[in-house]
Amino acid sequence: MKLSLLLILLSFSIIFQPLKMDAHTQGKNLKPGELRAGLAKVVITPQQPLWMAGYAARTKPAEGKLQDLYAKALAIEDSAGHRLVIVTSDLLGFPRKTADRIAAEAGKKYGLGRESILLNSSHTHSGPVLRDSLAGAYALEKDQIEAIDAYTGKLEDQIVALIGSALGDLAPARISYGVGEASFAMNRRKITPDGVINSPNPGGVVDRSVPVLKIESEAGRIRGVLFGYACHNTTLTGEFQQWSGDYAGFAQQEIESTHPGATALFLMGCGADINPYPRSKLELATQHGKELGSAVGTVLQSKMSPVKGGVRAAFDIVSLPFAPPPTKEMFTAQLSHPNVFHQRHARRMLDRLGKDGRLISEYPYPIQVVRIGSDFTMIGLAGEIVTDYALRLKREVKGRVWVAGYSNDVFAYVPSARMFPEGGYEVVESMIYYDQPGPFMPVIEEKIMEKTMSLVRRVSDK
Ligand SMILES: [Zn+2]
Repeated sequence: MKLSLLLILLSFSIIFQPLKMDAHTQGKNLKPGELRAGLAKVVITPQQPLWMAGYAARTKPAEGKLQDLYAKALAIEDSAGHRLVIVTSDLLGFPRKTADRIAAEAGKKYGLGRESILLNSSHTHSGPVLRDSLAGAYALEKDQIEAIDAYTGKLEDQIVALIGSALGDLAPARISYGVGEASFAMNRRKITPDGVINSPNPGGVVDRSVPVLKIESEAGRIRGVLFGYACHNTTLTGEFQQWSGDYAGFAQQEIESTHPGATALFLMGCGADINPYPRSKLELATQHGKELGSAVGTVLQSKMSPVKGGVRAAFDIVSLPFAPPPTKEMFTAQLSHPNVFHQRHARRMLDRLGKDGRLISEYPYPIQVVRIGSDFTMIGLAGEIVTDYALRLKREVKGRVWVAGYSNDVFAYVPSARMFPEGGYEVVESMIYYDQPGPFMPVIEEKIMEKTMSLVRRVSDK
């Protein structure tokens, strides 16, 4: 090569080097396999007396707070600049429209694909009602609807900003994984001669595992703790009128107070058929929170296995079919049903039939799968999804597997195939509160499994 040409090439590389660096600032200075992590949190406690989400029997808005509600974010980035942000929240559930708005806005602002944002809620029943959520459950006056609208809009902005803060906090990190156990979760589908009732069922399926991700600085300081449990946040029942995260809120508080400076994030599992027991007393919510917090503490002190390698994520939709809905005549007959929730549901379905001539026949169900390295998989399933799915995925997906429910859209209960002949709240009655035309078909389990496994293959090593 001639000297002059070499000089030209050299000067080009010098000129273009900084530009190239600017375009690829993410993941810089990391060796292959190393990760950066960032954490952020924001208080989302409503400042006005808003209606509380989760119990249809409540008749008035919240009266102050037991503790603040939070949205929190954990951002993870690999050495190639692939990023993932996990958002957790002390909320009943992100409705689809809210999740989509947050993901679209954060995607635009920070260059994140939909697959890189996981939006999870703890399913606390002591948080606020959000717009487009459980429309059938509450009798809301116009001023409440407006207040809920305003709160939801502000929440969306806060969470977009939160994602930005977590990305802004990215710094080299050591991430490790372990699993503990807490005892207060119990199956709540008790089979009786009169059908399934909501009552403790000690013999029923349950997943009492407590998965934990520890995020440490390079110097070994704990910066963040992501932990999960698959159990309704319903220790506090409908007569409680103050904001709180229930057991998950108290567990986060416990972990943050024992690890000053660390952010504790609760990721809700597939606990749709699971309640905390005993329940209905404030001291039980703090007791369960302490038990969960100390289960996490035990894992943090034990030998945890490292999580490192490339970050890959996939997101897709699968259509879940509803059973053929009741006819117009059947809905009309239900207008005089003794239960007011059935009446309201029938009215809304008839309105929809009047407008479109038909009801939706399937639901577009979002599924997200995240892989870090070669054997750590995190699965985010939508809806109030039951334990069977997590147990099955943990059997069928290789390596270390963490299955979250209540992710990206909380739109209805998602029962497993075996539950359909049993019936009960999770299969049938809950659909009224969620404003769905009626129950799903049993085939939804296979559809969800098939799509999830295809996403697992998509993010797996070639
Ligand atoms: Zn629920």
